[in-house]
Amino acid sequence: MKAKIKATDNLWFDVEAEQEDELFKQIARVQEIFQYQGCGACGSTNIKFVSRLDTSDNDWLEIVCQDCRAKLIFGRTKKGGLIFPKIKWDQLSEKQQEHRINEKIYADKHRGYLPDKGWFIYKPKNCDS
Ligand SMILES: [Zn+2]
Repeated sequence: MKAKIKATDNLWFDVEAEQEDELFKQIARVQEIFQYQGCGACGSTNIKFVSRLDTSDNDWLEIVCQDCRAKLIFGRTKKGGLIFPKIKWDQLSEKQQEHRINEKIYADKHRGYLPDKGWFIYKPKNCDS
């Protein structure tokens, strides 16, 4: 059984599986990971998939808006190493929670979901406070 899934205007996937449930899972994965019509903060469709290494050699996966610079970051499950977009407060690391503490009030009121579907603009800590 084969299927073609359109994630965005310039990104298509072919998936194939023996059984319906397996095909279902593959479609769900593509939709969760790749189907982004635009930036969650400003709505621009000018978004880019970015993979980068930090100074400790961890690789980071993120989708970055080329217009407002907001980004959506991805995490990995401990089991199986599957990736997922961080769209809930609980999915952020301690450090990320510390950095994005201003999003907590929103998350608390919205069943744990982050504002702007998880997209945020990275702001270096301000030193004037
Ligand atoms: Zn944007």
